[in-house]
Amino acid sequence: MNRYDVVIIGSGLGSLLCGYILSKEGFSVCVLEKHSVPGGCLQSFRRGENLFDTGIHYIGSMLPGQTLHSYWKYFGLSRMLNIERLNENCFDMISIDGKDYRLAQGFDNFVEQLAGHFPSSGTFLKRYVDSLKETVSAFPLYNFELNDSPTKNTWMGINAWDFLKSMAGSDPGNLRLLEVLSGNNFLYAGRKQSTPWHQYALINHSFISSAWRLRQGSMQIAGHLISAITASGGQVLTRKEVKKISPLKDKFQVDTSGNEMFVSKRIIAGIHPQAVIGLLEPSLVKKSFRSRIMSMENTVSSFGLYLGLKPGSFPYFNNNLYYHRGQDVWAASEAGNEQWPGMYFAYTPATAKSGEYASALCILSYMRFDEVRRWENTLTGSRGPDYRTFKKEHAETLLQLVERKFPGLRSLINTIEISTPLTWRDYTGSPEGSMYGIRKESGNFLRTMILPHTKIPGFYFTGQNLNMHGAPGVTIGAIMTCAEILGLEYLFKKIRDAE
Ligand SMILES: Cc1cc2nc3c(=O)[nH]c(=O)nc-3n(C[C@H](O)[C@H](O)[C@H](O)COP(=O)(O)OP(=O)(O)OC[C@H]3O[C@@H](n4cnc5c(N)ncnc54)[C@H](O)[C@@H]3O)c2cc1C
Repeated sequence: MNRYDVVIIGSGLGSLLCGYILSKEGFSVCVLEKHSVPGGCLQSFRRGENLFDTGIHYIGSMLPGQTLHSYWKYFGLSRMLNIERLNENCFDMISIDGKDYRLAQGFDNFVEQLAGHFPSSGTFLKRYVDSLKETVSAFPLYNFELNDSPTKNTWMGINAWDFLKSMAGSDPGNLRLLEVLSGNNFLYAGRKQSTPWHQYALINHSFISSAWRLRQGSMQIAGHLISAITASGGQVLTRKEVKKISPLKDKFQVDTSGNEMFVSKRIIAGIHPQAVIGLLEPSLVKKSFRSRIMSMENTVSSFGLYLGLKPGSFPYFNNNLYYHRGQDVWAASEAGNEQWPGMYFAYTPATAKSGEYASALCILSYMRFDEVRRWENTLTGSRGPDYRTFKKEHAETLLQLVERKFPGLRSLINTIEISTPLTWRDYTGSPEGSMYGIRKESGNFLRTMILPHTKIPGFYFTGQNLNMHGAPGVTIGAIMTCAEILGLEYLFKKIRDAE
C-alpha cells in the first residue's frame, strides 16, 4: 500500500513547486505523472545535437528583487538556473505588415525605444507603462507583497483592448502603436473581445522588467525541483496515469495505470480541471460544480516546427520574433483555415555555445483543434498517412510565411519535427491541446476563475488553470494552493526569508 500525506497529480511546474514546498515542510509527498518523462510543459526534447523547449521559451522578471527571482530564490531556482538575458533593447521584435518594432527591457528604455518608432506618442507610452505598474501594484502577490485585503480588485473585469484604446485616444499614430503593444499576444492567446487587462498587464510587466532564455532548456527547472523533492523524502513517479479518485473513509484512494493504488489525506490536482472531473468518483462532485467546470471554454492550441539547421548557415538572434501577416494582431488566434497562419512566433534556442550562428529554430503558430479533429481518436505514431500529409502541408504553408522574413530558410534545414494540437493534448492532458487551459474572460471574470480549494475537503487545484498561466502565474498559483494547507502568512514568510 502506498500511503502519503499528499498525492499530487501531474508533474508540471505547478505540481513540482507544490511538491517542493510540502516535502520541505515535512509532508510525505508523491507526485504521479502519466508520461515517461516528467515536467509537462517544462519538458525539452533532443533531436540530434539540438535541445528544443516545448512550453517555456523565455521567462521574465529574473533580476534580483524582481517578482520571479524573488519567488524562485526560495525554490533554489534563481541561483542554479542557466539563463541568458535577451537583448536589452529588443527582447521581442514585433513585425507587422513587413515593418519591425522593438520592445525593450526596462520601463524607461521600453518607452525610449518605441518613441523612436512613434515620435509623437511619448506621452501615451509613459501613461501606458504607468498603467502596467499601477495594475501590478494592485496584485500584492505579484508585487511580492503580502497584503491583508487583496480582494475586490477593480482591475479584474477590464478588457485589455478596450482599456488600451481608451488610453490611446483618437490619434491615428497611437492606433498602430496599440497593435505593436499587443503584438506578442501569443503569450496569452489574445482575443479582442475577452482578454482581461490585468492578465495582459501582469505578463507584459514581467517581461519588460527583464527577459531571459534558458540555456540548457526548461527541463533544468523540472530536474532541479525533482531532485529537491526526492532529497526531502518525496517521490516523483512516472508512467503512473491517474485513472480514478474515490473516497476512502477520511482519505482518498487514487488508482493509476498498472493497477496501482495510492492512499492520501490530501490531493493536489495539477492537471486541467475538466480532466479532473472525469477522474473523480461521481459522489465526490456536486452537479453544479461539474457543469460550471465543464462549460468553461479553453484557449486555442498551437502548431509547431522545430528545425535543426545546417551549421554556420543561420544567424543566432538574441530576441523573439512575433511576425504578423496582417494589421490586426488580435485576429490571428481565431483565424480559420483560409487565413492560416495569421502570425508566428520564432526564436533560436540558446545553447552553451550560442554565438554568431544558430543550430536550431523554433516556430509556433496558433491552430484550432477543429483542424485535427478527424484524428482525435488516434494515438501518437499511428495516426495514419493522411495525418502525416496534413502535417507536411501545414509545415510547408507556415514555412512560406516564415520565408518572407528569412528568404531561403528551407534550404538550410537539416531536421524537422512538427507538433499539432493532438501532440499537445496527448502530452499535457489539456483538452483539445489548449495552450493555456481555461480561457479567462474579461466580461465574466469570476465565472472563469478556479480557486485552489474545492468543496471536497482535502482536494485542491494547482497549475496554469488556477491563477494564471506562465512561470510567474503558475508559481503564485502553487503558493496559493500550498497556503491552503500551511497558511499564507507562514508560507510567505518562509519564501521572503529564503537566502
Ligand atoms: C506552446 C506554449 C508555449 C509557452 N511558452 C511559455 C513561455 O515562453 N514562458 C512562460 O512563462 N510560459 C509559457 N507557456 C506556459 C507555461 O508553459 C504553462 O503555463 C505551465 O508550464 C503549465 O504548468 P502546469 O503546472 O499547469 O502543468 P502542465 O505543464 O500542463 O503539466 C501537466 C502534467 O500533468 C500530466 N498529466 C495529465 N493528466 C494526468 C493524469 N491523469 N495522471 C498523471 N499525470 C497527468 C501531464 O502529462 C503533464 O506532465 C507556454 C505554454 C505553451 C503551451
